[in-house]
Amino acid sequence: RAKELGGDRFKVFTERMLDQAMQRMSLERDLRQGLANDEFFLVYQPVLRMKDRQLVGFEALVRWQHPSRGLLLPGEFIPLAEETGQILELGRFVLQEACSTMAAWQEQHPETEPFFLSVNLSGRQFSSLDLIEQVRSIIYKTGISASRIKLEITETTIMEDAENAVEKLRRLKNLGLTISIDDFGTGYSSMSYLQQFPLDNLKIDLSFVRLMEVSPENKEIVRAIVSLAHTLGLDVVAEGVENEQQEQTLRDLGCEYAQGFLYARPMPADDARRRMLETA
Ligand code: C2E
Ligand code: MG
Ligand code: MG
Ligand code: MG
Repeated sequence: RAKELGGDRFKVFTERMLDQAMQRMSLERDLRQGLANDEFFLVYQPVLRMKDRQLVGFEALVRWQHPSRGLLLPGEFIPLAEETGQILELGRFVLQEACSTMAAWQEQHPETEPFFLSVNLSGRQFSSLDLIEQVRSIIYKTGISASRIKLEITETTIMEDAENAVEKLRRLKNLGLTISIDDFGTGYSSMSYLQQFPLDNLKIDLSFVRLMEVSPENKEIVRAIVSLAHTLGLDVVAEGVENEQQEQTLRDLGCEYAQGFLYARPMPADDARRRMLETA
């Protein structure tokens, strides 16, 4: 009987694996078609200055309007795109789209000059050989001022490619862009490396913002991250701020900027533009 049970389990297990493999294959094919059919688009989430809740910029976040599965979040397709290499094309689209949106804002409303736009770079994109050339050409073609574009690169990505990262970041900085280290606290940074990287901001991962409320120790971890950032001369952005208690704590810890549902959800470009004009 035990054997029978085990057999059943094995069957269920392989069926599930097969199912997953099929889903993966169809997703890979869909990604290819989606890229060809313009099914990807960007939404923009406001970033605010904590002391007065003043809007300072946006983070561009990719979405996929899938023809049969509906709206998909990055967590549902970025990992696979990263694995298959399709992220390179998707990433190019994101950068291109973000920069041309920014260019249009800048042209129609010169008063939006001080706002920045953050774009996420994946690991593969960061280590790809033509990144610098790609960024340079998109900036040139769209005519935006490079200083308004921030590239968000995760701590893990930077550390995985630490040897080349210093030089690469320096070249991006030379183009005039600013650099954020994203999801900070989730990777294993070496302090000696951190201070070599030419960075501008550090983004505290939302998991820490959430944990902060759970125990005083976690709050101390966030305090340590903020203080480390300041020692390195970086501004701190907290992501995933959902309530006023978190906001208050982060403010008390000296965090400069915040992003989260407390202020705004990611929104279409037109709403972001309107928001900017109200503030400008
Ligand atoms: P991330 O760069 O850390 O972006 C922040 C994520 O937190 C976004 O999720 C955002 O919608 C979410 N978020 C913001 N405020 C709150 C909040 O108050 N509560 C909660 N629960 N969540 C909040 P999203 O858009 O699903 O993106 C997830 C991740 O996917 C991003 O994390 C980023 O790593 C990646 N991603 C998004 N867009 C792109 C892209 O264009 N290229 C690449 N390579 N990765 C992207
Ligand atoms: Mg990000
Ligand atoms: Mg982040
Ligand atoms: Mg994060």
